[in-house]
Amino acid sequence: MNNLAELPVTALKGVGDKFAQVLAKLHIATVQDLLFHLPLRYQDRTRITPIAALLPGVDAVIEGEVRAADVVFGRRRSLMVRLQDGSGTISLRYFHFTAAQKDRFARGSRLRCYGEARRGAAGLELYHPETELVGAEAPDTPETLTPVYPLTEGVSQARLRGLAQQALALLDQGGVSELLPTELLPASLRYPLKEALRYLHSPPAGADLAQLATGVHPAQQRLALEELLAHHLSLLELRRSNSAISAPPLPVNEALERDFLSRLPFSLTGAQQRVSAEIAADLARSRPMMRLLQGDVGAGKTLVAALAALKGIGAGAQVAVMAPTEILAEQHRRNFSAWLEPLGISVAQLTGSLKAAERRSELAAVASGAAQLIVGTHALFQPEVAFHNLALVIIDEQHRFGVRQRLELREKGAATGTAGRLQPHQLIMTATPIPRTLAMSAFADLDCSVIDELPPGRQPINTVAISNERRDQVMERVQGAVAEGRQAYWVCTLIEESESLQAQAAETTANELAEMLQGVRIALVHGRLKPDEKERVMTAFKAGEVDLLVATTVIEVGVDVPNASLMIIENPERLGLAQLHQLRGRVGRGSIASHCVLLYGTPLSQNGRARLQALRQHSDGFAIAEEDLRLRGPGEILGTRQTGEIQHRIADLQRDAQLLPQVQKIAASPLLDEELRRQLIARWLQNKPRFAEA
Ligand code: ADP
Ligand code: MG
Repeated sequence: MNNLAELPVTALKGVGDKFAQVLAKLHIATVQDLLFHLPLRYQDRTRITPIAALLPGVDAVIEGEVRAADVVFGRRRSLMVRLQDGSGTISLRYFHFTAAQKDRFARGSRLRCYGEARRGAAGLELYHPETELVGAEAPDTPETLTPVYPLTEGVSQARLRGLAQQALALLDQGGVSELLPTELLPASLRYPLKEALRYLHSPPAGADLAQLATGVHPAQQRLALEELLAHHLSLLELRRSNSAISAPPLPVNEALERDFLSRLPFSLTGAQQRVSAEIAADLARSRPMMRLLQGDVGAGKTLVAALAALKGIGAGAQVAVMAPTEILAEQHRRNFSAWLEPLGISVAQLTGSLKAAERRSELAAVASGAAQLIVGTHALFQPEVAFHNLALVIIDEQHRFGVRQRLELREKGAATGTAGRLQPHQLIMTATPIPRTLAMSAFADLDCSVIDELPPGRQPINTVAISNERRDQVMERVQGAVAEGRQAYWVCTLIEESESLQAQAAETTANELAEMLQGVRIALVHGRLKPDEKERVMTAFKAGEVDLLVATTVIEVGVDVPNASLMIIENPERLGLAQLHQLRGRVGRGSIASHCVLLYGTPLSQNGRARLQALRQHSDGFAIAEEDLRLRGPGEILGTRQTGEIQHRIADLQRDAQLLPQVQKIAASPLLDEELRRQLIARWLQNKPRFAEA
């Protein structure tokens, strides 16, 4: 019994195969998993609070005598029980109750209750408290804080508590191995693992509840550090296994490149040159490039991607470019066609919306190798797509794809039509700059390049926040801009995921604006339009035949219309800072001074205010990403909300960001041998999929 990592939960009393399946939903398969299933919070049932000392919003145990129990008819029927102790009286209120429950509250009986006091109509009340009848013998008063665990259907709090106690007893007999050499731990976190686990499952009375609630207790931090380390090690492992794979070397084809560059109306920025050289060096090697290209909106990533593509095509291989949306795929197709077709390169397109016949012919061109560059959405990686000597995959706006897709792609890329057992190189582009600490841990398997310079002549965007109560003034402003021959975007945001609801909201707004803004040519674009309709609208807007484009957030990424100099974003408080920055980047692409109006709904929360303020103050995507991390958490930045990717049991990337440098130091230490690394990864990542189902 000395290794709980190998002891199945069914070894515990009261756990059969059926219950084990329920526990599996909590990613608990072994007794060790159970020990790592930590409480969300704690209840202090170690002492009884006098009724007069209760505070609103605080959980407490009280004990007293029932003075009355009546059904009262207020706005909602409820059972009200008056409970009295030596210090005072309080009401217990039940909105749902049975006759038996009511009988339990006989006048004169003694009750012990646990619950949160809240302000009610008649002073403090306890809603639906847990109650226990006090007989001749007083009920046990626990000596430790009571843990509250994350649950799933079919498991009760009481049952998990019982199991945790059983697991702790086994811990005493040997149990869970210490995988981190003590000397590697920072002095403040030299907490033996077993002690940390014991403490967290049953903290002693008087433990610092506030500290535990915020997750910064040394026992919690000790575990968070280990978990972050395990994730980091697994990404390093991925990187290492990647370097054992072969890829086709793609040397520079100088004539082709010179031809390409000489046709551009501008020259590359210094940052574009530097980053292109980094990519060229990777591509010349015979192991797959895994590079993340970061650059603020408008920094010119597409051009860098085109240069990379030329290396694949110049070497006689195929290149795929994947975009997150159809609109963006379409725009890339147009850009790449305009740049590459004059060089005699053939560009194909694969999106979900192609007609059957078109699709067949594009698929045939891809399979025969007639198509040299293929642009598409994720439809690119469906099984019926057979590439012909695919050497490079370029992924745009990677935050929409997530780590999980990144892994999948690597596997699929290897499986589909590359020469022999070679794997294609990968270039991943993102306009959502990732703070350094996060990048180093969440993307430890990637190399990073940063375009930290915008093309010359860009005008800063003037951003203002205006309350929706002044909507009229904003409309006047749109009218004014249009009168001066400029174009504008009006972006509608909705919290709902549904494209049809979004489309509906945008349509309503477009109608409203059409009524208010005489003489302004308005068009509407949203995710529900057919691709050719979208294309028609976008082309008309680009050509200046439309003055005001009402859109959903589908225009967020990539769309490029230099004459558009005004953007209105409705309810910006609903979006993340990074997304807002992206949206705003649609204007300020030409030489005219541009403006962005954040038309917020009232009342605006304090955090909402702070976020809009941050957007007004900063024009640099990296600074905004740091603010976003501070105000909203890493989920927003890494796109985890959408894809549910990195799932930590204990660690919280935002709260524990300060542990990351430590994590990197430990990972680099020779004291951590292969076996320890393997075991750490297995402990934290084995039974739980690394990336939750998207
Ligand atoms: P992003 O990095 O947001 O994808 P794009 O690649 O769409 O940016 O580039 C934004 C605009 O800047 C495009 O119109 C592009 O043609 C232009 N551009 C790119 N590189 C340069 C450059 N070196 N000088 C001037 N304009 C450039
Ligand atoms: Mg782009």
